[in-house]
Amino acid sequence: MAKKLYGIIGHPVGHSLSPAMQNAAFKACSIDSRYELYDVEPAALEEFLGNLHNNRISGLNVTIPHKIKAKEYLEHKGTLDENAKRLGAVNTIKVSEDGFRGFNTDGPGFYRSLIEDLNFEPEGKNIFVFGSGGAARAIVMYLGNGPQRISVYDIDKKKIEDLKTHYKKYYDEDRLVIVCKDEVEETLAKSSLLVNATPIGMKRDDPSPVDKNMLHAGLHVYDLVYNRLTTQLVKEASARKAYAVTGLGMLLHQGAIAFEIWTGEKAPIDVMRKALKEAIKRLGD
Ligand code: NAP
Repeated sequence: MAKKLYGIIGHPVGHSLSPAMQNAAFKACSIDSRYELYDVEPAALEEFLGNLHNNRISGLNVTIPHKIKAKEYLEHKGTLDENAKRLGAVNTIKVSEDGFRGFNTDGPGFYRSLIEDLNFEPEGKNIFVFGSGGAARAIVMYLGNGPQRISVYDIDKKKIEDLKTHYKKYYDEDRLVIVCKDEVEETLAKSSLLVNATPIGMKRDDPSPVDKNMLHAGLHVYDLVYNRLTTQLVKEASARKAYAVTGLGMLLHQGAIAFEIWTGEKAPIDVMRKALKEAIKRLGD
């Protein structure tokens, strides 16, 4: 039996690509550990977290629907890093002799991938985020005051208002702008980075969430969708001479940062990327 256990808690979690990536990393680093799937219903979350020591679990990734409740649990029964505190959500837990500590590696994972995969520095730039759910929130809160302006569009107006209210507690309110449907084209023309943080693109036949005629040459496009090797948005953006990638890099780097938090070792990025690509291919692109 492996010396240490790690895993992902969510409901459902059957689709997760993290076991392939993390188990490949443990093997490559000769770390005697195993990463598992823990499907935990919301009503059972507190009991599960209370038994981490008893169940020899040394670290967790946390996914939908537990990210906010896990943060609330750790506020009382552990500690939080600044990023998880600001965002109000935890996606990584480290369990040690000293207790539990919660982190959020989604924002830093996106940032690392943005630089590595798109060669894009967000500081001082105009950024346009489509969608204002959990992933958009992690990105917007992590980028904070760095960009010149972050514009956000979502069909769910209440979600954007919530994001804006949360953002202004920490950052300069004027830098985050809510965009309505009629303003999408003009906003995109003035932006140097478009982030698709809607679920459109996850299904094989999904269209692009953005009219291709609005995509300009030289635009950087980051499509957060990670369960497919390409998407209609990435194809159309590339055809119009924009620089476009899918969300594989964000998934990779948020996992690599979690691995480094748990083990204290440098993550074997190339091994993890290869394992992720193979797992995505198995899903059937
Ligand atoms: P979410 O919480 O459901 O948020 C998505 C938001 O987009 C919702 O508010 C949704 O509104 C809105 N939306 C849907 N269609 C839209 C459209 N046509 N135009 C504008 N807004 C639209 O989802 P999430 O957890 O943030 O995830 C979003 C995407 O990011 C998913 O594809 C997910 O797989 C991906 N993701 C990737 C990573 C990574 O590591 N690469 C990490 C996290 C998430 P309604 O709720 O009204 O539909």
